[in-house]
Amino acid sequence: MTLASVQGQPRAMDALQSALRTGSVHHAYLFAGPEGVGKELAAVGLAQALTCPEAPEVGCGRCASCVRIAKGLHPDVTYVMPDDERVSRGLAGRSDFTGTPSRELRVEQIRQLQERLALRGLESKRKVAIIVSAEQMNVQAQNAFLKTLEEPPSETTLILVASAMDRLLPTIRSRCSKVHFAPLPVEMVAEHVREARKLDADTAALAAVMSGGSLGRALALDVKALARRKDVITAFEALRGNDIPGLLRFAEGHGGSREDADATLELLLLWTRDVALAKAEAEAEAGMANRDLKALAAEVASRTSEAALHRRNALLEAARVAIGTRNGAPRLQLERLLIELCVEGR
Ligand SMILES: [Zn+2]
Repeated sequence: MTLASVQGQPRAMDALQSALRTGSVHHAYLFAGPEGVGKELAAVGLAQALTCPEAPEVGCGRCASCVRIAKGLHPDVTYVMPDDERVSRGLAGRSDFTGTPSRELRVEQIRQLQERLALRGLESKRKVAIIVSAEQMNVQAQNAFLKTLEEPPSETTLILVASAMDRLLPTIRSRCSKVHFAPLPVEMVAEHVREARKLDADTAALAAVMSGGSLGRALALDVKALARRKDVITAFEALRGNDIPGLLRFAEGHGGSREDADATLELLLLWTRDVALAKAEAEAEAGMANRDLKALAAEVASRTSEAALHRRNALLEAARVAIGTRNGAPRLQLERLLIELCVEGR
């Protein structure tokens, strides 16, 4: 892999390659954009280009230096990421940590990075630090990192990879050169995911739409859950406010874990978009994620006002945020959502 092999991001790649060509590489970059669209691959590619002895400013992808960077083993290219990310990538075991591996990037990790950056490069003149999930830096970590941005060590390039840029302090954002990564074209994701996961074309197309143009997310989607989506949507639309046990059963069935609840909410959000498309009627089918449920979408659209659809969307979003960021108990959040949706007006 090299910078040139990053696909579907022509604007971002143009910006980086022209900076390399003209010797105007910034000391700090913020690679911003959705998850799974190539930001980290590009960070690795940039690190290779900056240190490759065979193809300086380009990166050959084959020499010992490039290969070790890709494997995370180059002494002058440091990766920093939250502990739970290291566990999910198999770089560390759960037993390496006392307690649950942190989802945050802690201030100690930033201090360790600073100590490393203060040393001379071991093999290459240039040092690179790649901060994965930079938005997970807690406030203390961000304040510590700000010092590095204000007084950047010489011959060093810092690359912050972030999917939620608004969680970074404005002072951090303004000191970095921003490179925006767009969602990937849906056809490209569908093609990749079809090959990689041996899916039929329809399921691959659905996975691509559901991923919102993120190859990473499309590859991580649970195929069995895709198959279940029809049942989930039909059951959801059959819920009625006068059948409280039915609502509670649905919440229990889909709120067993944070991941389950999140996947269900994501599916229902996408479905709500389908219903909105059916309501707008214009070219509805082309943009629909659940094309095989077109008739149901039209039926729901005919009995739901536009305001009610907006409200449904907002409640689904709010439940997702509550489950994802505020440690809300998933089943309780789903129960509350369904009661608000079905009992208090639909
Ligand atoms: Zn190389």
